[in-house]
Amino acid sequence: MIQEYLKTSIEYLKGVGPKRGDLLRKEAEVFTFGDLLEFFPFRYVDRSKFYKVSEVSEDLPYVQIRGYIVDVELHGQKRATRMTATLRDDTGTMELVWFQGIKWLKNAFKPNVEYIVFGKPSLFGRRYNIVHPEVEPVTPGAINQESAMQPVYNSSEKLKSQGLDSRGISKLMRTLLPLAIDHVRETLPAEMLSAIKLPDRKTTLLHIHFPPDPMALKKAVARLKFEELFYIQLNLLRHKLLRSEKSGGHVFRKIGDYFNNFYNSCLGFELTGAQKRVMKEIRSDTLAGKQMNRLLQGDVGSGKTVVALMTMLIALDNGFQACLMAPTEILAFQHFESISRLLNPLNIKVGLLTGSTRSAQRRQLLKALKDGDLQIIIGTHALIEDVVQFDKLGVVVIDEQHRFGVAQRAKLWSKGHVPPHILVMTATPIPRTLAMTLYGDLDVSVIDELPPGRKPIKTIHQYDSNRLKVFGFMREQIKLGRQIYVVYPLIKESETLDLKDLTDGYESIVRDFPLPDYAVSIVHGQMKPADKDFEMQRFVKGQTQIMVATTVIEVGIDVPNASVMVIESAERFGLSQLHQLRGRVGRGADQSYCILMTGHKLSNDARKRIDVMVRSTDGFEIAEMDLKLRGPGDIQGTQQSGILDLKMADLAKDEAILKFARAKARELLEDDPHLEKPAHRMVVQRLRTLYHDKLFWSRIS
Ligand code: ADP
Ligand code: MG
Repeated sequence: MIQEYLKTSIEYLKGVGPKRGDLLRKEAEVFTFGDLLEFFPFRYVDRSKFYKVSEVSEDLPYVQIRGYIVDVELHGQKRATRMTATLRDDTGTMELVWFQGIKWLKNAFKPNVEYIVFGKPSLFGRRYNIVHPEVEPVTPGAINQESAMQPVYNSSEKLKSQGLDSRGISKLMRTLLPLAIDHVRETLPAEMLSAIKLPDRKTTLLHIHFPPDPMALKKAVARLKFEELFYIQLNLLRHKLLRSEKSGGHVFRKIGDYFNNFYNSCLGFELTGAQKRVMKEIRSDTLAGKQMNRLLQGDVGSGKTVVALMTMLIALDNGFQACLMAPTEILAFQHFESISRLLNPLNIKVGLLTGSTRSAQRRQLLKALKDGDLQIIIGTHALIEDVVQFDKLGVVVIDEQHRFGVAQRAKLWSKGHVPPHILVMTATPIPRTLAMTLYGDLDVSVIDELPPGRKPIKTIHQYDSNRLKVFGFMREQIKLGRQIYVVYPLIKESETLDLKDLTDGYESIVRDFPLPDYAVSIVHGQMKPADKDFEMQRFVKGQTQIMVATTVIEVGIDVPNASVMVIESAERFGLSQLHQLRGRVGRGADQSYCILMTGHKLSNDARKRIDVMVRSTDGFEIAEMDLKLRGPGDIQGTQQSGILDLKMADLAKDEAILKFARAKARELLEDDPHLEKPAHRMVVQRLRTLYHDKLFWSRIS
């Protein structure tokens, strides 16, 4: 069997064995021959180039030097033994250091033999050294056989200790490739490959590991990136297609009393043009007899929540239930509070379900949901659990940052016979490439207009040493009747330290803003919910002028009279978080300010973040910058979803390939919507391997 060979356990490869096999599984997630083939180099080094000792600098990731090894010395004892040697060429000397393998190495170097030394230089004190360099004598073969592009593989300390450093892995690859290459199957349709002029999979694998020349490498990389993005897009578009082919979709035929009463007597303002447009889009989705799957994007404070709420009311008007899912308990609670308050005159039953809902109450809630007595339920992830059953779920709203993968969203649809309409709201605008990858199966609505009368927030950067000036400004603002947030970072790993920062800050503010002229609130995650609520309420009611808080207030809380946001240690926040925080002010008609406090020493990236914040209030621009600075893996909330674990493609750089891959995936589905053509059999195969998503496949077969 062709396939089976690549599934052979990695330990059976010559040169691996049980011990290394174990390590490869644990450290590199390489289980089979096939996995090793897909363990790609992360960079290539030019082993045909030689440096001189005098040219060595820390900017060079690797150097290769020809020279003599002299003055071998041992230091320390037993486990702490260290061996040093001096490498000398005609321009100078540098140190080589070993901590392991000393027994074998200490007599290995001959003083009159010229060696090739290869490794990463680092600055130690004022001298360069190389720790654990690769060393071999200069022989004609040693130089000539090295290509200009040697693969460098990721390794780990443990792998290295078993001889599986980059070079060791490369050796395994040299053993495996000739044996395995004929078992490799193509994963893209031949027609497509020739049309887009990318190499076949065999060539690609050979060239990615051992590129014969830069052009071949470039093509191999392009093919792997394309393939990766193509399958993600194909999966998304296929989901979308399957959904649209399915008959069902609740029809919200009428606009009834709930909506009308809310609109006429609770809302208290005119919808913006953008809000109206989005409501129309949602109206037509929910009338079409198909399931709505819509992403609602818009900057903080643009009025998405209002739109979501009205959508839920339309569901209720048609006899359906609605559900709103928030990313955190706090946010779920705040939604629950504000929605309950808004809907109070309408006599609508709203429930809250989170991980910390007590079991007695949970039982009650679940029963009321199932019986249809509860019309709106708000909660966290807890809502996805199978025990949560609805009588007639009409619409699900998923609030910001909940970067669900497509499979997780699918789980929500399975609630109920006919899938509910889905509205995903993201408060942090996300870059196009990310949106296409995370939400590529959704239709998109954008609210690109802020409610009228909002003035752009002025953002100012101040160093900690100017704190007194900032306090003076705060006093002026309070005199004008405004309120102020002072926010401290909260980083999970050092909660106690962060809390100390916060309480110290609180004390110094209370000292400078004393009673009876001023009153200060404090809110943080370790307070009892009742106390927290009490403090929040005092601020909301205007009884306190300053709210000292952790990022608890990042989302949700809405006090239009608050016009200043002071962010302490702003350098410790990510861009999207800064933008979110800033969005807490500027909600009223007054000029609002955001003051970013930092220390004098700022890293390059921190300075860039601060600069962008000062320069721009455009959430989309900030999101693009965030992606550039941090890379997609770190964008808030994407880690859990796992779908951004891209092996080859980089969403910050590969927008063009992504768009192309999406277009190709669309073409393929237009030509063969159910992937039935024999020429596409390998595509189905590949999708199956990549996405073990039962829901999806049960519908295909
Ligand atoms: P988002 O969810 O997009 O952050 P919200 O729906 O919470 O925004 O709205 C932010 C604030 O603006 C709320 O106080 C809301 O009542 C108010 N608001 C929303 N839409 C309008 C509008 N069209 N005119 C005036 N105020 C609005
Ligand atoms: Mg909101």
